[in-house]
Amino acid sequence: MDMTITDLCTGCHACHSVCPNKAIYKRVDEEEGPLFAIHSKRCNGCVGLYDDKQCASICPVEEAILFQGKPLNPKGSLAPIASLRPFFDSLRAQHAMGE
Ligand code: SF4
Ligand code: SF4
Repeated sequence: MDMTITDLCTGCHACHSVCPNKAIYKRVDEEEGPLFAIHSKRCNGCVGLYDDKQCASICPVEEAILFQGKPLNPKGSLAPIASLRPFFDSLRAQHAMGE
């Protein structure tokens, strides 16, 4: 499926944890640290499993996940959960310590 994770990804690991098809994998960007990518053949868009794409449902970053080139969480759509950003940053830090 035509799903992409952009460089706006902060590497919080949340999508990696919820993907039912293990389609999200870590890649290493030498400047930005560990980020994630989506395996296009493994991803089926969560069809038949969930009504919503689980990765986009949990991602706290606007425009980080694209479907057919368009952001699933467009700019302004996540403003109500902006206060949760420190929580996701702490998730990333916890994973970094465990690596
Ligand atoms: S749409 Fe579903 S199957 Fe595809 S990467 Fe996201 S969580 Fe995984
Ligand atoms: S949930 Fe969003 S910000 Fe977090 S790792 Fe996945 S794409 Fe990146």
